[in-house]
Amino acid sequence: MTALRKALFLDRDGVINVDHGYVRTPERTEFVEGIFELCRLATRRGYLVIVITNQAGIARGYYSEQDFLEYMEWMRGIFTEHGAQLDAVYYCPHHPVEGVGKYLRDCTCRKPAPGMILAAQRDLNLDLARSIFVGDSPSDERAGEAAGVGIRIRLRPLLRVTSGRRAIDPADVERITVSLGGHARPQVDERPGEDFKGEG
Ligand SMILES: [Mg+2]
Ligand SMILES: [Zn+2]
Repeated sequence: MTALRKALFLDRDGVINVDHGYVRTPERTEFVEGIFELCRLATRRGYLVIVITNQAGIARGYYSEQDFLEYMEWMRGIFTEHGAQLDAVYYCPHHPVEGVGKYLRDCTCRKPAPGMILAAQRDLNLDLARSIFVGDSPSDERAGEAAGVGIRIRLRPLLRVTSGRRAIDPADVERITVSLGGHARPQVDERPGEDFKGEG
C-alpha cells in the first residue's frame, strides 16, 4: 500500500496574492510576502502544495477558464523562479446565483463545500488528517473542517511591511512553520534559498 501524502492546502486570494478582487493578470498581482518561504519549507518537509480557490469571476463571465488557467501557469512560473512549487491547483468556476450559463450551479466544489479538497485527496492519495489548510475566510475554515483536514489556520489580516508590501502576520507564519515541522521564527528571506534550482 502506498503511503499517503500530506498536503499544505492554500486558498489563493488573500493567501498567495493580495486580494484586490478578481485578480487575473500579472499586472494586478501582488504576492504576499512570506508565501514563497512557507511553500519551500512545505516541500522540504514532504508536503504537496495545493491551491484550493473559488473563482466566481469565471461564473460571472469576468474572465474565462482559459484566462484563469493561463494566469495560473504564469503564477506557477513565478513560484519556480523563487525555488518554490505549486503541485496542483483546484478551482471552482461556479456560482449558485450569479453564474452565467453552465456556471450557474449549486455545486459541491465551491467552498465552504469540501469538494475540491476531497477531489485532491482522491487524485493525490492524501492523508487529510495530517494535512494543513491555510485560508483567510470563514468559508476556507468550514471547507477544511468538512473535509477533515487536521490543521486549519485562518490568517489574520495581512500586515504592511516597511517595503510597502503586505505580509503574513509573524504569529501566523510561526503557527504554519511549526505545523510543517519547521523551527519557529524562521529567517524570512526574499532571496531564493539554498534549494533554489530555478533559472534565475
Ligand atoms: Mg481568500
Ligand atoms: Zn463548483
